[in-house]
Amino acid sequence: MARMRRIKVFDTTLRDGEQTPGVSLTVEQKLMIATALDKLGVDMIEAGTAIASEGDFNSIKEISNAGLKAEICSFGRIKREDIDFAAEAGADSIFMVAPSSDIHINSKFPGKKRENVIEMSVDAVEYAKERGLIVEFGAEDASRADLEFITKLFKAAMEAKADRLTYADTVGVLIPERAEEVMRKLSSTFNVPIAIHCHDDFGLATANTIYALKGGAREFHATINGIGERAGNAALEETVMALEFHYGFKTKIEKQRIYDTSKLVEKLTRIVIPKNKPIVGEYAFTHESGIHTSAIMKDSSTYEPITPEMVGRTRQLVLGKHAGKASIKEIMRRLGYKANNEQMKEILARVKEIGDKGKVVTDADVKTIIETVLQIKMEKKVRLEDVSVVSGMNIMPTASVKLRINGNEIVEAATGLGPVDAAINAIKKAVSEFGDIKLVSYHVDAITGGTDALVDVIVQVSKGDKIVTARGARTDIIMASVEALLEGLNMLI
Ligand code: MN
Repeated sequence: MARMRRIKVFDTTLRDGEQTPGVSLTVEQKLMIATALDKLGVDMIEAGTAIASEGDFNSIKEISNAGLKAEICSFGRIKREDIDFAAEAGADSIFMVAPSSDIHINSKFPGKKRENVIEMSVDAVEYAKERGLIVEFGAEDASRADLEFITKLFKAAMEAKADRLTYADTVGVLIPERAEEVMRKLSSTFNVPIAIHCHDDFGLATANTIYALKGGAREFHATINGIGERAGNAALEETVMALEFHYGFKTKIEKQRIYDTSKLVEKLTRIVIPKNKPIVGEYAFTHESGIHTSAIMKDSSTYEPITPEMVGRTRQLVLGKHAGKASIKEIMRRLGYKANNEQMKEILARVKEIGDKGKVVTDADVKTIIETVLQIKMEKKVRLEDVSVVSGMNIMPTASVKLRINGNEIVEAATGLGPVDAAINAIKKAVSEFGDIKLVSYHVDAITGGTDALVDVIVQVSKGDKIVTARGARTDIIMASVEALLEGLNMLI
């Protein structure tokens, strides 16, 4: 039963993760994340430290009352008051830690000896059991402590009826070989589930967690996106994926929910996910143009170990300024579109225009460009010769346009509530003699994130009882809006 073992996931995003410098979550935000974690399928949610603050106490209380499937846990020290707060907040369990290295014993309980820590631990575990809590008893800084002492400490906690034990690599100094060896010893000595808690100071948190599980641990602590004190904790998403993909361990995690959960935590904690972070980073399933892109299009396994869909994502192809006809044709083939030579030239020119501005061009951008260009009639009745817009704080947004309609030049100017509105008004004025033209609807989307993103504008324009839908796609929102309106006019005039 070494392989295919069911591993329990103890999520500490809301406790250790919240200890990330600068992160402070409100009760509502914690409840949102806890709900997402529950759907994700974590077994335990450490929701905070009940005694630490009113906010933490209330968070644990709200989350405990939310009817989630996961066990709700409060962090605490081996002190009766910590236990009282956890119990009164309504937590199911307490993750209670005792200092186990001499460094931690001397700093937390000056003048006390290892034996005193054992006595205090026994008293705390017994008291927590009296208060009806599930007790996960942890040895803090275990990786710098004497293993013989940890064994003694754990034995005492077990006699006091602790339910689970945790080996904490508090400062991230564990190495995989030692993690496996220590867990082999502990799991053969103790008959209860043992958990591993790792920090990433040397980038080994995931590896150490996996080796501890190989050695016999049955539960691991982790945070979404690996947030946490200093370099953070083991990242839940990459640990789960590595465990299942490489080692055949099973967890209850619904992997398709990983990405959404990760983005929610990023948004609420404001700790931005590094672009190259495994599984959840922006580039984890993005491919640069050239050989990779064409191979990926034929068979995604050539350059992807797992599909993005497995973790709730989609693939992105970055075409860049050197995007060739081949990659554009391939995207058109997938979409079932055909372009004539002139349209192809226009598509290429627009893709390069974005690339030249130093912005990455994704396949989503290209799709929008293709769809926009394919709608364009090559012989236009209404052509834009010039547009300029003035906007600011103490100025009425004003636009002037020069159009060529059926060969005649028309110049108009108008004001508006904003620069887009002013430009649209100027064009409407310029075409007013061609009938009762109305802008029925206006919708704008940014294709990819960022203020330099390609902007996709969809408009409905009417003349009499005829309504058409048109689209513009540019990096400049005013130009995208003008383009969309002009395309509509070309269908109507
Ligand atoms: Mn920690």
